[in-house]
Amino acid sequence: MQYSDSILNTPSSFIRNILKVTDSADVISFAGGLPNPISFPIGQLKESVNHAIDESGAKVFQYSTTQGYLPLRQYIAEKHNKKQPGLDYTADDVLITTGSQQALELISKVLLNKGDGVIIEEPGYLGAIQAFTLREPTFHGVTLETEGINIAELKEALKKRNVKMVYTVPNFQNPTGLTYTQKRREEVYEAVKNEDIIFIEDDPYGELRFTGEHLPYIAAGKMENSVLLGSFSKTVAPGMRLGYILTKNHEFLSHVETAKQASDLHTNIFAQYTLHHYLTNNAYEKHVEKIIALYKEQSNAMLTAIEKYFPPYVSYTKPEGGMFIWVTLPEGVNALEKFHEAMDQKVAFVPGNPFYTSKKEVNTMRLNYTNATPEIIEEGIKRLGQIL
Ligand code: PMP
Repeated sequence: MQYSDSILNTPSSFIRNILKVTDSADVISFAGGLPNPISFPIGQLKESVNHAIDESGAKVFQYSTTQGYLPLRQYIAEKHNKKQPGLDYTADDVLITTGSQQALELISKVLLNKGDGVIIEEPGYLGAIQAFTLREPTFHGVTLETEGINIAELKEALKKRNVKMVYTVPNFQNPTGLTYTQKRREEVYEAVKNEDIIFIEDDPYGELRFTGEHLPYIAAGKMENSVLLGSFSKTVAPGMRLGYILTKNHEFLSHVETAKQASDLHTNIFAQYTLHHYLTNNAYEKHVEKIIALYKEQSNAMLTAIEKYFPPYVSYTKPEGGMFIWVTLPEGVNALEKFHEAMDQKVAFVPGNPFYTSKKEVNTMRLNYTNATPEIIEEGIKRLGQIL
């Protein structure tokens, strides 16, 4: 069989392949990126599932609209307007997707012809690299620094041919855990505001801030070509596969809707109805506070252990929220080799390689802290420290 060039050129998820090896009970794994399952509100969701069936009956088992369940779209618009005055979203600006991952795929179908330019953080979110790669674009990686993406490199990249979009994760980025500063947000906005590009802020972790204050979005509410992506995967349950696109650009959104029709007709309406009932009948904010307290404790445990056990020439990020810490080893150290040594000691992480669109050999690694107790985190970091 001759498969398409685009699928042959798209790597299968490196992380999923790694997880096959790291998923054994005796391995301490910092490799996954899963929310902690103790945070799933299973009891309340059960009530909402029953309510969906009892009250709406056949409606939740019937085909539904591509844009999504109207009350859920209204809820999402209002939630953002409350969070940041001036955003002024309405339900018409919202499209519900099958996880925010689908949003990335649909956007790439709507915007990208083969060879078109995509500006992405380096290192960047692997799932976005994968979704975009299927359209065979030209990636322009822009270095992600502690304060946010490098502005000089961003400006250079914007001058390249046929650049269609800039993709960013400004809060507690995957894989680095970094958050753009207020100043860098303003500089990015100044750099992109007059460009003919779609500016994406992918924000699945934004609510999970455990220190500092919420910072305003870079372009949302200010620029017509701003696209905000959100998700309920990290705050309710990823298996429900519920995410969304928020934008005032309705021409763009109608193209996304067409692409979605071709892809899956609509997002699971049973899940949408259940989620909406859950959100409007429970103390959702209190629930999110509990997740924040849990992740804060785990993140502190990892940072304390790193400080204690890692050699001083290793540097690392100190996340203000989210799920990841990013570790940089000295120049020339190969993180993939360290991964194999770590597996021999029954501890796992993700080597930085798949998060880059240009570099192949890297000295960086991603550590996830949301799936182990503080005691296990300390033991795992101690073993890693010995290897490093
Ligand atoms: N964007 C980022 C930055 C992510 O880390 C993830 C999940 N790993 C997603 C999007 C996709 O999330 P979901 O499809 O579950 O909403």
